[in-house]
This record gives sequence, C-alpha cells and structure tokens, in this order.
Amino acid sequence: MIYQGNAITVARGTSSGGDDIAMLTFDLKDESINKLSSAVVAELDEAVHAIRAQSGLKGLVIGSAKEVFIVGADITEFHGIFEKGEEYLVEMNLKVHEIFNAIEDLPFPTVTAINGLALGGGCEVTLTTDFRVMSEKAKIGLPETKLGILPGWGGCVRLPRLIGSDNAVEWIAGGGENRADAALKVGAVDAVVPNEQLEAAALDILARANAGELDYQARRAEKTGPLKLNAIEQMMAFETAKGYVAGKAGPHYPAPVEAIKVIQKGAGEERARAQAIEAKAFAKLALTDVCYNLVGLFLNDQVVKKKAGKYEKQAKAVKQAAVLGAGIMGGGIAYQSASKGTPILMKDIKEDAIELGLKESRKLFAKQVERGKLSTEQMAEKLTHIRPTLSYGDFGHVDLVVEAVVENPKVKDAVLTEVEGLVSEDTILTSNTSTISITRLAQNLKRPENFCGMHFFNPVHRMPLVEVIRGEKTGDAAVAATVAYARAMGKTPIVVNDCPGFLVNRVLFPYFGGFSLLVEQGADFQRVDKVMEKFGWPMGPAYLLDVVGMDTAVHANEVMAEGFPERMARDGKTAIQVMFENERLGQKNAKGFYAYEEDKKGKPKKVSDEKAYELVKQVVQQEKAFSDEDIIARMMVPLCLETVRCLEDGIVETPAEADMALIYGIGFPPFRGGALRYIDAMGVAEFVKLADGLAEELGALYAPTDKLRQMAEAGERFYP
Ligand code: NAD
Repeated sequence: MIYQGNAITVARGTSSGGDDIAMLTFDLKDESINKLSSAVVAELDEAVHAIRAQSGLKGLVIGSAKEVFIVGADITEFHGIFEKGEEYLVEMNLKVHEIFNAIEDLPFPTVTAINGLALGGGCEVTLTTDFRVMSEKAKIGLPETKLGILPGWGGCVRLPRLIGSDNAVEWIAGGGENRADAALKVGAVDAVVPNEQLEAAALDILARANAGELDYQARRAEKTGPLKLNAIEQMMAFETAKGYVAGKAGPHYPAPVEAIKVIQKGAGEERARAQAIEAKAFAKLALTDVCYNLVGLFLNDQVVKKKAGKYEKQAKAVKQAAVLGAGIMGGGIAYQSASKGTPILMKDIKEDAIELGLKESRKLFAKQVERGKLSTEQMAEKLTHIRPTLSYGDFGHVDLVVEAVVENPKVKDAVLTEVEGLVSEDTILTSNTSTISITRLAQNLKRPENFCGMHFFNPVHRMPLVEVIRGEKTGDAAVAATVAYARAMGKTPIVVNDCPGFLVNRVLFPYFGGFSLLVEQGADFQRVDKVMEKFGWPMGPAYLLDVVGMDTAVHANEVMAEGFPERMARDGKTAIQVMFENERLGQKNAKGFYAYEEDKKGKPKKVSDEKAYELVKQVVQQEKAFSDEDIIARMMVPLCLETVRCLEDGIVETPAEADMALIYGIGFPPFRGGALRYIDAMGVAEFVKLADGLAEELGALYAPTDKLRQMAEAGERFYP
C-alpha cells in the first residue's frame, strides 16, 4: 500500500498482476458517494506525494470504488469557505492547482477510469490525467456555472485544450451532464467500454503509452501549452459565444459569460498563467450574492429531497393511480403519471372531456418524439398507461386517486364520498383543490386518515412543485404514499399543513394584493410588470394574473380574504375584479390586462390593450410617482411577510422548504434564493424597517409579525 486515507487509497499493482502500476482509488468512508471536501483534497495532496516518492512505477490509474466516480466538490462547505474572502479563495485554488499539476506532471503515463458520475471537481480530476476511459453508463460535466461560479480547478484551462474551445464553452456555459458517447465524440475521453472492462481498458492504454504507441507526452504538451487558435479565430469563437450565452443566461446569471472570458483570456497562455486567471475569476464570482443564493438553493434542494426520501421509505408504492376529471389539470396529471411509468385511470363524466384530455397527452408525447426523446413505439407504449373511462369499473385495484374535478365543494364532496365507497380500504384519496380546505373535504369521508391534498401547478408537465397538504386527520401513510407518487412522477413534493391557499397561494395572493394597491395609487401595470421582470420574475404580476385567469384569481382571493380578513379583505374594487366583471379573464379568453394574439407557432402573444387601461381607470385613486425600488418593495414585502407567517404558523416546517416551494411553484427568481433568503440578504432589521414604513400608509398587509421584530432585535436570520 502506497497510501491509505479516509477517502483515498493508493496501491501498487493491479488485479491482473504486476506491481509497476499505481492504483489510486476514491472511496469516501461512511458515504454513498465520493466528493472532494477540503479533507479529501488534502488527502489527494498526500497521496500524490506518496506516489512521487515511489520508484519503478510505470503508470497511474485513478478510479472509484463507489457507483459514482466523484460528484464534485463538497458544496456544503461552500458558504463557509467563500466567506473567507477573495484572497483566501485565490490561494486555495492555486494550492489545488499545485496538487492537480503534480498529477499531470508525473513521470509516467496516467489514466482515469470513469465508472460513474464525474461532475465539477470530479471531472477536473479526470482532466489531470493523460487519458480517460469511461463506462458506457457514466456521465461527465462541469455544472459550476449553475451555482454561479466557474470550474476553478483547471476546468476552464484543460477542457478547451482537450476538446476545443467551442465544445468547452458549450460544456462549461451550459453546465450539463454529458453521456459517454457524447464525451467520446468531442474527444473528452479516449474510450468508452462496459463497466466491467474499465480497468482492463485503462491498463491497456497505459501499456500502449509505455510501448510508444500512444504519445502521452504530446497529450501533456497540448494540455499545458497555449490554445492553438489564431487571433481571428479566437475573436470569432469567443465573441459570438459570449453574445449567445449572455442572451440565454440573462442579466442575473453572470457566471456562464465570465467562464467564457476566462477561457478566452487564458487561451494564449501557458498553464500557470491560465490557471492564475481562472483562480482570480473564480474568487470574484464566489463572492457574489448570486453565487451565495444559488449555493443556498442547492443546499435547500438537498433538504427537500432528504425529507421526501424519508417519507418515500415508509410509503406503500403506487402501482396503479387514478385521476378524476380529465380537464386541464386531470389531463396533465394523467400525462405526467403515464410519462414516468405509473399507469393511470382517467375518469370523467363527459366523453368529450376525456377526448380532450387524451388529445393533450398525445400532443405532449408527440413533442417528445419530435425532440428525439421518445421513439414512436415508446410513445405508443406510454399512451397505453392512460386508461380513459366513464365508469368506476376498475377502481378496486387503484392505490391512489387524485381528484381533479371542478373547483366546487359540493361536487368534490359527492365525488370523493362516491369513490371512497368503491376503492379498497387502504387506497389513498387526494384532492388537487387550490382553495378548499383539506380538513373540510375530509369531513364527509369515512377514512379521513387516508386523505390529503395533492396540489399540482399548471402546466403540470412543466411545473416541478407538488404541495402535499396534511389535513387535521390525515395519517402518515397517506402523506408518505402521496410524496412517493409525486416523486415517481418526477416532481418535487413539499409537505405543508392545511390553511387557506395552503403555502404557495397563501403567499402569492398578498403579492397580488400589493399589485392592486400599486395600481390604485397610480402605477402603470405594464411598468410594474417590467420592473418585476427585471427584478427576476419570469413574468410580471399583471401578466401572471392573465395566465392564472381572472376568475380563478377573484375566487381564490375571496377565500384568502375570508381566511385572513385582517390583512387580505379589502373595501372597494380591485383592478383584478374590474377585469373579471368585464369578462377579461386573461389568456383563456384572449383578453385581460393585455390582449392576446396568436404568434406564428400558435402560442398566445401578449400585446398592450388600451381597453384594459380604460377599465383600470375606475380604480385609480391617486397619481403617485413610484421609483423602481418603491415598486419592488410594495410587491415583495407582502409576499415575504406571508412566507414568514406560514413558517411561524407551522404551515411549512423549514425556511428551506418555504423558499423552494416559491421557486418551484411560482417561479420566484432562483438567483434571489427565495423569500426568506431575500429577507436575510436585506437584513431582518432593515426589512422590518421597510415594512413598517409601508404599513403606516398601506395597512396590515405590510405589518411585520412580532416574532420578526424580535428576530430583528436579536440580530437573528432565517438561515445560519
Ligand atoms: P377543468 O374545468 O379544466 O376540468 C374539470 C373536469 O372535471 C372537467 O373535464 C369535468 O368534466 C370534470 N368533472 C366534473 N365533474 C366530474 C365528476 N363528477 N367526475 C369526474 N369528472 C368530473 O378544471 P381544472 O382547471 O382542471 O381544475 C381541476 C381542479 O384542479 C380544480 O379543483 C382546480 O381548483 C384545481 N387546480 C387548477 C389549476 C389550474 O391552473 N387550472 C391549478 C391547480 C389546481
């Protein structure tokens, strides 16, 4: 044994004999994956020193004893490390470069055997060796830009030299995971083999390199020298890429373009200079708020996944599902379930509704075929997973039912009690209601413990969130099965407690409340949209209301006002009500705050409509001038405060879940991290001051809670 650490071992000799090859194996103790924490990087340093001290070696194979190769750096350490500042980060990365360079400079050929996921720092480890062989099922990539940083351990330097700057820009700015065949095609790896042949293939490459058949020195020269591009080629490649990538990433995500700049700046340089450029740019990005929030997002996502995983372990599997109602939501739910492999019965009372639901599913599957994600045979097979029906004939074998009929408590009561009498004793019943209390719907059921909310968002196939709502009598088995089914559908379930609006709509409607007040005080609704879109929302509030539908919004608002009259009930009409009363329902009838025309692809395109302005005049009471910051504060404060209330009331258990629900459910700008992260970024005390100022003029919707005040006084935050 050359080296033995907690995560790394280095042994001399291979399973096929001979002791002139060093085998460095990553196998982090007590973990299911390998990751490059600071401790593991320190071990790698020791391991490389130990290898260098050996004599008579003719090669090195780097591999993993886990299912993955290395999933990347240890992101849980990021906030703590990044806090130490720019200088520290530059030094840290230069130190890692030293270790990685030492591998690259070993006096014999080297190869990595990539058996599974090799991401971020894991991918960068593979780039240090002369050659790479990859298992057919493995994936490789550099997702750093998705966290607001760039590959800082040599990825921006070695990858373009290996696969060309155009391919490297695509890998790094896109941040995707690449399959083995794609990696082979661009030359990121030298061979792709079945997993069981990985070691043999790696040893074969070393033998050929030692025999002079493969020129490993030339490989190194290529990886460590300047990029071979002339000035004009460089300009063309990088300038075009920067424009395209900037357009795609948008103004709030600087990392992808910064990564291209680093590749460009380092292109004409030798390894050391190019690495120094990379280290500096990395440190700068690591200190941005965007990076802080995107890292926070990753950590929150882990919290959410872990919780769902716990429920999943206790859950009875859903092998056969059913959905009641084949409308917009029912059709979407059936498609999603079938698409991910859980057979589903789709029941409606109307033949034409069923036809419509099926047509929508066919359309969505056909799009997948068009994009090359499904073959026509697979599409046909998946479509058989949806069984349309007008009767309850087969409901005896259903594990879980999603009720998605019209939003009418009487109809829902009737449908739920009816289906309860036809399914087996342990079938889980759920409702996709947006506004009716789950506890209230459970009242007429014989087995309320088997019932909970399963609230999807529209369009179901696109929106990642599913709120799983626990009513007063809901049992753990119902929650667990619903969470597991949501996961099987490829969704992110978040468990919340019952209240008007549940979590997401309870938080969204105060935001609409802020919008109504702004309009009444003279703000131009199109300007409000523009400001909020610039702030990072995928669509402004007026546009969002058009998408949600004015009828739905008015109804949900009534429910909210009844549930929380002190801050959500209003005197007088709002702009939303005016739109509704004038039959401007939004996209569904092509007019709302905007008018809608069909674009070339047949999709609704919004255009400004004078008539909407005329109508809105009815509610405008003042002619106040608002700055962009005023608009943002008046929109964001009610939303953030309601999120705080949901946390205080125990509707949602953790800040992480609350923030993720807003990002996944209503498109809260991800780079801002969520409502609670937003308050933290501003500082709780500063936020309370801002809210107090607004509350004086605008009332209870803007009033901080007592607990938030206490947090401000004690200097506390939502996140550590
Ligand atoms: P929809 O009107 O498009 O569809 C409702 C369907 O239910 C219709 O096809 C109707 O024929 C059918 N139906 C009525 N009575 C039935 C019965 N007894 N048995 C079987 N089917 C019956 O409505 P939708 O937009 O799909 O909404 C359905 C539910 O989902 C509602 O509770 C709604 O609040 C909720 N929801 C809607 C959205 C949304 O954006 N549309 C989002 C989240 C939740």
